Amino acid sequence: MSDVFMNTYHRLPVTFVKGDGVWLTDTNGKKYLDFSSGIAVNCLGHAYPPLVKAISDQAAKINHTCNYFMSDTSMAFAEKLVAACAGAGMKKVFLANSGAEANEGACKLARKYSLVRHGEGRHTIVTLRGSFHGRTITTLSATGQDVLHKDFGPFTEGFVYVPGGDLNALDKALDPNTTAGLLLEAIQGEGGIRIQSQEYLAAAAKLCAERDILFMFDEIQCGLGRTGTFLACEGFGIKPDVVTLAKGLAAGIPAGAFLAGEKAADVLQIGDHGSTFGGNPIAAAAGLVVLETLAKPGFLKEISRKGEKILDILKSLKHPKISGIRGKGLMAGVDLSVEAWPILEAAVSRAQTGLLLLGAGKQTLRLLPPYTITDAELEQGLEILGSLL
Ligand code: PLP
Repeated sequence: MSDVFMNTYHRLPVTFVKGDGVWLTDTNGKKYLDFSSGIAVNCLGHAYPPLVKAISDQAAKINHTCNYFMSDTSMAFAEKLVAACAGAGMKKVFLANSGAEANEGACKLARKYSLVRHGEGRHTIVTLRGSFHGRTITTLSATGQDVLHKDFGPFTEGFVYVPGGDLNALDKALDPNTTAGLLLEAIQGEGGIRIQSQEYLAAAAKLCAERDILFMFDEIQCGLGRTGTFLACEGFGIKPDVVTLAKGLAAGIPAGAFLAGEKAADVLQIGDHGSTFGGNPIAAAAGLVVLETLAKPGFLKEISRKGEKILDILKSLKHPKISGIRGKGLMAGVDLSVEAWPILEAAVSRAQTGLLLLGAGKQTLRLLPPYTITDAELEQGLEILGSLL
């Protein structure tokens, strides 16, 4: 392991050199079954041939234009992305590079929307306890986890947290005199695969609409097919005002985006926002492959089917150390009666095939396999997990 990196990550002692589909190979030639997708990023698996080709072809043509101009690939990507999100009511997009950048932009959008429509003093953004929205000072401020808030103050002011699922608390927090937006994950990823109920989300949408507060879905982890619909909000029958995306958006090349529906699509004007690398043509070329793949007939249905299969297999294990199983599509959480990290470590360091898992909180394992995983690979990974438990 190299010691030149700042010590910010709890890294496992493995260095990868190659990937192919759901498989990774380390420097010793050992193979690993990837149930993490690089935390929901490599949604099409590793070295997906159409993705490799699109990135290489684009790199040979043009890899950056400044935002004075447009590249044909970036334009095609933006148009296809908005079209893919049209069912959720989205009209326009801003292309960025990461999840934090997408959420930061969405917060700016909500504040300007509120200022233009209602004047000063209405800038609060309500988020949920247990949420994760990013690591910049503002997106950390939006993140409802006290443990991440130590050491870095002062934070951006104007964020208020409510417990998920508590409509009374939400009703009180969404003060129409002070609130610009509500930002939430329909399924909290880092927070442990916490799924908000359809009733809660529908009631939240109603409250926001009545009070002209922007309802913003952070779909950075749960969006882009992960839960079996293109956007997670579609699976809950909700049309938010704003959606943020990143992670799987370009399947491994850095990309992020925030989209807005009718209400807020034209709020940001020239000079209000920008990003040097946002909409980068190589990321856009990769993003086009993601959009084309997810649009293939039956592709999203397969994600749902495989997700059901994961839950069925996990339930059939009836393992005494498993105390809870939740999931939607290829996003599953397994609550344990023991700590998750030692199991995660054991899964990686097995003598034969390694298994890459994720944690979410102390006692929850998180499974986010690539969409391209086969049934046989799913079964193999879950068998390994069962044996480790
Ligand atoms: N929002 C959610 C729901 C996330 O899961 C993450 C990252 O895990 C982020 C935002 C931040 O994304 P990034 O790390 O790309 O800034």
